[in-house]
Amino acid sequence: MEKIFVSACLMGARVRYDGGAKTLENQLLATWRAEGRLVTHCPEMAAGLSSPRPAAEIAPGATAEAVLAGRAGVYDKDGLDWTGEFTLGAQLAVELAQQQNCRFALLTDGSPSCGPTYVHSGNFDGQRHSGEGLVAHRLRAIGVAVYAPDQLRELARALEEAENTAS
Ligand code: SF4
Repeated sequence: MEKIFVSACLMGARVRYDGGAKTLENQLLATWRAEGRLVTHCPEMAAGLSSPRPAAEIAPGATAEAVLAGRAGVYDKDGLDWTGEFTLGAQLAVELAQQQNCRFALLTDGSPSCGPTYVHSGNFDGQRHSGEGLVAHRLRAIGVAVYAPDQLRELARALEEAENTAS
């Protein structure tokens, strides 16, 4: 059975920077959970951060790839550097996905860790742009197919195709 790595906040865990969750209510997700396919994980909590915690963003103009290569960082609005924690979180996420043989992931969008299709500007001004968080980037780099919450149907199709191919 194909497993899916899922951002814990989508499953209702109160692990976000603001102390809340980002619960995604959906029948597909409920079915996958009942089937035992979901590997639910919060990279930032796994790296030792608490909830709530300061909001952090990838530095303006930088990419996840640049952060992971040591050419940029992740900061909160006071300029404190959280790069080490976010990089560790991405590493632990990759290790878990590999241990669990996850070939698919469903990640919360906009997060500097999980974000699969967009991230915030780095200026804490509410602006966002196309891009990915550190976890999304690292998972894609090892061949995991990463989806955003508004791509659940695409994920379901890809999962079905993978399982039909395997059977
Ligand atoms: S790191 Fe990912 S799982 Fe954890 S709160 Fe942020 S978006 Fe959710």
